[in-house]
Amino acid sequence: MHVIDNHGLVVVGCGMAGLAAGLRAAELGLNPILLEKSPCDERGGQTRYVQSFRAPSADSGLPDRGYEFAVDDYTEQDFYDDIMHQTSDKADPEMARRLVDRSSETIEWLTDHGVDWNMEPLHVGYTVARTFIEGEDLVDTLVARVVELGGTVVYDAEARDLREDEVDGQRRITGVEAIIDGEYVAYEGPVVIAGGGYESDERKRTIYYGDGYDEMPVRGSPYNDGRPVDMALEAGAEAVGQWSGAHMSLIDGNSPPARGGANRIDGYQYVVVLNHDGERFVDEGQDARAHTYARFGRLFFEEEDHEVFLIADSRTEEYLWPQGPSDPVYGDTVAEVLNELGCDSPDQGAETIEAYNEACPDDGFEQFDPEHLDGTSADEALSPSKSNWAVPLTDPPYVGYPLTGGITFAFGGVAADTDARVLNDREEAIPGLYAAGNSVGGLFYDNYPGGTGLMNAAVYGRIAAETVAEEGEPSLSGGAAGEVTADD
Ligand SMILES: Cc1cc2nc3c(=O)[nH]c(=O)nc-3n(C[C@H](O)[C@H](O)[C@H](O)COP(=O)(O)OP(=O)(O)OC[C@H]3O[C@@H](n4cnc5c(N)ncnc54)[C@H](O)[C@@H]3O)c2cc1C
Repeated sequence: MHVIDNHGLVVVGCGMAGLAAGLRAAELGLNPILLEKSPCDERGGQTRYVQSFRAPSADSGLPDRGYEFAVDDYTEQDFYDDIMHQTSDKADPEMARRLVDRSSETIEWLTDHGVDWNMEPLHVGYTVARTFIEGEDLVDTLVARVVELGGTVVYDAEARDLREDEVDGQRRITGVEAIIDGEYVAYEGPVVIAGGGYESDERKRTIYYGDGYDEMPVRGSPYNDGRPVDMALEAGAEAVGQWSGAHMSLIDGNSPPARGGANRIDGYQYVVVLNHDGERFVDEGQDARAHTYARFGRLFFEEEDHEVFLIADSRTEEYLWPQGPSDPVYGDTVAEVLNELGCDSPDQGAETIEAYNEACPDDGFEQFDPEHLDGTSADEALSPSKSNWAVPLTDPPYVGYPLTGGITFAFGGVAADTDARVLNDREEAIPGLYAAGNSVGGLFYDNYPGGTGLMNAAVYGRIAAETVAEEGEPSLSGGAAGEVTADD
């Protein structure tokens, strides 16, 4: 075993949580090193694929400082309520509260470090506040800043185990062992687990979600196999949160097995989704897109052949936002489009759309308001119902896309307190061990309010570094700042 460096902080992962921890540690004069499993050109885990942060617009002061939001009356309390409501009130309330409390200042902190927000108006159907960001730019900006402030990032460095020792009569975590170029290398220092979840591991998906989930496309990074979480569990951390739960988004049916990125087809809430039997199986308009897309992916994937079909007409097509690889399929009839898409029952699909049209109010399109839950609902007899945006699809040509479900990130993780200290099953902090972002469980259950994953990772990554600094972990001298790749 080769012991390379002593560090004030060893961070596993360089996604949003790891970068926030590394950056804050560098600011505080710790000497952070970030170990990233992927090669440099794939660094950043799921963070590489993101688009937006959720933050409060009202009572945060952010609009006064030039930040633009799609809605201007979204309060901190609304943010907190959305987390609790979308997670069926199962989210750890203290964790959610601290996340919200520190969200505005975290946006400003990121701005101070060079994050460039794209304030373009949001696409239809988003009813909460958020700011736009490109994931790759975010990662590039923050890595450069970590290095500028004296931190080190090592690529192709897969953390495998934690080091434990007795210090002053107390068991504590003293570092990480990683594989680099086929050799075990040890990095010493307090450790932040910021290695994301277990979503990219086929075996774990089958164990936690069931048969067939090994086939589910991974929307982002193929590197998140959950080993960092396992390391913490082996060191005594408690497993918490919803291990059978995940953010599973509806995505384009022709998405690749991994790295598909922003491959949703939004606007599904305004139109109709059919399965291979040509039947509707979900209330497409039951809530705003930001509150259904992360849940519908699983429902869609559970349908036959993991495949379903979106149908719109010429009037509703302009409200679709297809971000995936498929070209639209057009036809003069619904059956023609479904046939071309490969639906097993195109004629039944056409009948279903007819019945749906009859259940929609005649003046549905006049009442249609894509920016709000418009309450334009279909006749109660329609099953499943359509609670909002019940607009008849009567204007050819019709257009269709294939859809499936893809995994975004897993919900289970290690227990951590609101200071990001990892807890054992007696709810005691494990000395020297911290965690942030998707490696931590207890925040997301059942569903997910869009834009919260990034904010969670940023807030608690920062807090982890602050806790280490406050606890006065020994800040040891280490190697020179920079980026290290396998070729170096
Ligand atoms: C397509 C897509 C779009 C998304 N859009 C949004 C959005 O718009 N807004 C939002 O809030 N959230 C979004 N999310 C979710 C968001 O990406 C995550 O919630 C957030 O990025 C989590 O950050 P993290 O640092 O915890 O994990 P990650 O960003 O996944 O980072 C984990 C890091 O750990 C590394 N790693 C893993 N194992 C090891 C190991 N053994 N050793 C060393 N390193 C390791 C990984 O390579 C990676 O760099 C999206 C996700 C995807 C996939």
